[in-house]
Amino acid sequence: MIAVRDLRFAYSGGFSLDVPVLDIDGGERVAVIGPSGSGKTTLLNLVSGIKVPEAGSVSLDGQDISILPDRSRRRVRAATIGFVFQEFALVDYLTAEGNVLYPYRIGAGLRLDQAARNRARDLLSRFGLGEKMQRRPAQLSQGERQRVAIARALVTRPKVILADEATGNLDPANKAAALDLLFDQAAETGAALLCVTHDHELLPRFDRVIDFADLRTPA
Ligand code: ADP
Ligand code: MG
Repeated sequence: MIAVRDLRFAYSGGFSLDVPVLDIDGGERVAVIGPSGSGKTTLLNLVSGIKVPEAGSVSLDGQDISILPDRSRRRVRAATIGFVFQEFALVDYLTAEGNVLYPYRIGAGLRLDQAARNRARDLLSRFGLGEKMQRRPAQLSQGERQRVAIARALVTRPKVILADEATGNLDPANKAAALDLLFDQAAETGAALLCVTHDHELLPRFDRVIDFADLRTPA
């Protein structure tokens, strides 16, 4: 589902990232660990098509997104990827429900129909937020905000779920619960799940754990 080959990317500040090979199958749950500043977020942004590599390729479900023009890449991203951002990135002025439906506002080619609305409500209910759908992020606890962010990443039934330290700011019970939600949904849709995490106690639950240092070309 995810195939990365000979990926190269550099920021103007000097940091560069090389990833020779990364393959993740549909249904596979993979954790990536590594120190802060090593490039994990950059990698997720490259896999999702938010950033474009200087060289090499990123294929999602057999399609090389690195050669697509911006508009097509955005469409593939909207249709294929669910992204849980490191700092949630919820929209302050939207309700929980509005935030979960946000991908339909911005996603090229996604249609906000009744089925999507029902799915957003169903996810929020399953995440224990059935009574809080009309609240804004500021009126929710940290754990609740995180569950909204996860619901938003799942609402389009993406084939690829990327989570950037999605459990980082949560207490242990909420960490385990957040991972349950991601795992359940990934199992239901057969999605590939790639999670960057610092939570070593969660690692035994993954099919595979990749040390970021092993992924990158040795200097
Ligand atoms: P991680 O997620 O592993 O903490 P990042 O991918 O966020 O690491 O960052 C990797 C490196 O790239 C860091 O050294 C960071 O300072 C640098 N970096 C991140 N974003 C930018 C940017 N927009 N411009 C220049 N350098 C950046
Ligand atoms: Mg990061």
